[in-house]
Amino acid sequence: MFLLGGGDAGMNDKGALVLFSGGQDSATCLAWALDRFETVETVGFDYGQRHRVELECREAFRAAVVEVKPEWSERLGPDHMLDLSVLGQVSETALTRDAEISLREDGLPNTFVPGRNLLFFTLASTLAYRRHLRHLVGGMCETDYSGYPDCRDDTLKSLQVTLNLGMGSNCVIHTPLMWIDKAATWAMAETLGGEKLVDLIRSGTHTCYLGEHDMLHDWGYGCGSCPSCDLRVKGWEGFNAARSVA
Ligand code: ZN
Repeated sequence: MFLLGGGDAGMNDKGALVLFSGGQDSATCLAWALDRFETVETVGFDYGQRHRVELECREAFRAAVVEVKPEWSERLGPDHMLDLSVLGQVSETALTRDAEISLREDGLPNTFVPGRNLLFFTLASTLAYRRHLRHLVGGMCETDYSGYPDCRDDTLKSLQVTLNLGMGSNCVIHTPLMWIDKAATWAMAETLGGEKLVDLIRSGTHTCYLGEHDMLHDWGYGCGSCPSCDLRVKGWEGFNAARSVA
């Protein structure tokens, strides 16, 4: 259905663009979008990450997720990969430089790329405008995040207003994981696609800051000790503890 006129620039109200990195959160968001929208496209950003394994997970996950539910294969549209190598020129972080992951003096991990999500959503909204997709979906979360200010709900609500003013559009930014923890994110995946989706996310996504992807643990791939793996392990344990009680 295309809604024309009224300042919405002919946007498809049943269409969504998912910011899809290949990690657990954005993979869950992709399933969330496939469950709700008739047309779902994905966008990824290549900004010279030291560990490309997350980006390499994207294609395999997209190919496999359509097997979870028959209607999802009809809904999943093209993937878009944007070159954001300029981020490596304007920021200096452990994701793009050869440095150890550690906490900075202000408590943020040195993987922090300042304002990254502002850039991601701004570029995504320009792409979504061209593709006539009204809805933008991202896996940002305030519950157990590392303190990234651009993951905050207020930041993204403010950005939505700015984008709509600046583009004369009526886009909606969705962040389905904003107020839930990692255990609840696994539970959301189970609700959306059952054990099949849980297994796919467990074995087919990558979130480790150190790029460790050799051994599959029960909670997925990763080093098991970086801040990202720490969250993932605790989330998996919490999810399974809740399942065993239920
Ligand atoms: Zn790790």
